[in-house]
Amino acid sequence: MRKEYREEDVSVDRNSTKNKIVYGGTAFMGKYFQPEIETASQDQIRQWQNERLVKQVKHVYDNVKMYRERMDELGVKPEDIKGVEDLHKLPFTTKDDLRDQYPYGLLATSLDNCVRIHSTSGTTGRRVVAFYTQHDLDLWDDCCARAIVAAGGSEKDVVHVCYGYGLFTGGSGLHGGSHRLGALTLPMSSGNTDRQIQFMTDLGSTILCCTPSYAAYLAESIIERGMRDKIKLKAGIFGAEAWTEEMRHDIEKKLGIKAYDIYGLTEISGPGVSFECEEQSGMHINEDHFIAEVIDPKTGEVLPDGEKGELVFTSITKEAFPLLRYRTRDICILSHKKCSCGRTHVKMTKPLGRSDDMLIVKGVNVFPSQIESVLLNQGYDPNYQIVVTRKNNSDNIKVQVEMSDAMVSESADQLNAREKKLVSGLKGMLGILAEVNLVVPKTITRSEGKAVRVIDMRNLYENK
Ligand SMILES: [Zn+2]
Repeated sequence: MRKEYREEDVSVDRNSTKNKIVYGGTAFMGKYFQPEIETASQDQIRQWQNERLVKQVKHVYDNVKMYRERMDELGVKPEDIKGVEDLHKLPFTTKDDLRDQYPYGLLATSLDNCVRIHSTSGTTGRRVVAFYTQHDLDLWDDCCARAIVAAGGSEKDVVHVCYGYGLFTGGSGLHGGSHRLGALTLPMSSGNTDRQIQFMTDLGSTILCCTPSYAAYLAESIIERGMRDKIKLKAGIFGAEAWTEEMRHDIEKKLGIKAYDIYGLTEISGPGVSFECEEQSGMHINEDHFIAEVIDPKTGEVLPDGEKGELVFTSITKEAFPLLRYRTRDICILSHKKCSCGRTHVKMTKPLGRSDDMLIVKGVNVFPSQIESVLLNQGYDPNYQIVVTRKNNSDNIKVQVEMSDAMVSESADQLNAREKKLVSGLKGMLGILAEVNLVVPKTITRSEGKAVRVIDMRNLYENK
């Protein structure tokens, strides 16, 4: 099923001074898609980053008015940027900038050169659109192919993609990566669970790509239908929403697979900006394409390795929509510690929260992932909803949790005891009192795409 490559596609010229970027790779070694890149020395990676950043800053300055004006305001000229050590001199880009510049303001190439548009699922205000040239799509495919190989994939696999297709980047990203690898791709898109399971069993899907909440839902549905021993899945690549280690173990156990995390965002390209390897402890960032920084979200100061802060990306190889120092709002930690998989690219933790969807309840920072981890620890499925209300200036947090089928037949006393145990577990984790309601199975609306975990009814920002 391997696609044909031209000779030059499968080699990397390590000594190139022309900043040549090579598409495609080889999974011949089984372990890496592009071994020369994924296991390059830190010095080599830094050299690529230096060369590409210098070129990218010039490209952006020459072609994007917003960046030219911002750099002029800061008194920074493209020639002042000689490498990664000068990155801090460049302006940040925020999601508001992307909205303000909608649709063409940040486009750095002629529209004729673009072949694709994707968009974020913006819930408020104007959407964010991102443009891609064929070169941009090729590099994105490589990044996703690296992720699939890191999850144990090869051209022999059947890759079942049930991320949504369309404007959302999830479907197209993993689809492109699977093609690039030469695997057999099943472009299922999301929804229609019966068909998903039928194709999965009939066509022998081996790698599942979707959101973790949908993977959990599929696992539940497969077990319900007694199909567990009919599936051939060995791995899953799950991203596009926050999930906990407990949820990973739950999915792995139910489906009998290894579950890998993948990270990305439309603004930077899509899934595959970083991905997990066999160590399953953080995601390798594709540093030959993206320079990562972690900053203090309040001051913008760059933080050293190991410190928690807001993740910032500069895309150094994109042509159409290259962003400088894009503030992701994801709170992460970076680590250059040696990884047992042999990859040398820096690792980021799973986002530990979003600086913009963190809840502040009774003055305490609450991340939905903390609540999820308490539920899973006490044996509940990750089917829950957090409702926050405010009455007489006092916050109230209520967590609705679905019982398992077995729990439904328990006595009222037993269920009361369960609720008390959850309240106590949540108090321990959050430091505040949360009300807990156990509800019958299937009460909480399941989303086949992203799960809505939080309903904040306080309208905190309305009167400001
Ligand atoms: Zn690794």
